[in-house]
Amino acid sequence: MPELPEVEAFGKYLDKTSLDKNIENVEVKSPELIQNVDADDLKEKLEGHKFKYTKRHGKYTFTSLDNDFWLILHYGMTGRLKYFKNPDEKPSYDRVLITFEDGSHLAFDDPRKFGKINLTSSIEDFIKEKRLGPDALEIDLDTFNKIFEKKKGAIKTVLMDQHILAGIGNIYSDEILFQACIHPKAPANKLDNAQIERIFKVMKTILKTSVDKRMIDEELPDSFIIPHRRKNGKCPNSNTKLKTIKVSSRTAYYCPECQKEVLK
Ligand SMILES: [Zn+2]
Repeated sequence: MPELPEVEAFGKYLDKTSLDKNIENVEVKSPELIQNVDADDLKEKLEGHKFKYTKRHGKYTFTSLDNDFWLILHYGMTGRLKYFKNPDEKPSYDRVLITFEDGSHLAFDDPRKFGKINLTSSIEDFIKEKRLGPDALEIDLDTFNKIFEKKKGAIKTVLMDQHILAGIGNIYSDEILFQACIHPKAPANKLDNAQIERIFKVMKTILKTSVDKRMIDEELPDSFIIPHRRKNGKCPNSNTKLKTIKVSSRTAYYCPECQKEVLK
């Protein structure tokens, strides 16, 4: 499931392939993915226009058009972008297919159809309407501290809550807590300042490293827990067998040796 690093890479991919080309045609094959406009409206706002640049907030990309609108993409569980010139390269699940004047295409490919497409004239309004928290790469330590000292829930749940902090999901919250040596069920408001600061620091480093790797389609470092997040996976530090535990109905992977249970 795409989280902040993957979504950042999708935005950069769009910018690398699809800017300043006249959009000739927009084919909406799965209108149910479009949320706040209808398919005809989406076509009308895109066709005859050009993409200018892309921003990201949390797990959304916002691509500006030359008519003051922004195309907003959320990649759900299996969404991705695919730019191609040769029709043989068309992906199988192109829910929306954009064709440029030069004959090339940009597809929003999404086998499982949990992706979402919106259009807005104001990113700020959209973020407010969706009640998204600050972006995980943008947030500063002071704000981060204030958020976490008030939350009673499990730290993993708090990290994944898009209304509190935007961009982190099940996978990267496991990585952050592993590298910060904190149990996924530790209550957020019981952590001391040093622990919160550790979470903040490893979060920034993990996200930056992962963005860099995703941009060049490279695997994450073997010292991360993510490549070991599978049945019988072992901790890259202590070689201990990783454990799983349900946190807010999501499966967390953690190392029982490096991330000791935090008692209330
Ligand atoms: Zn370990």
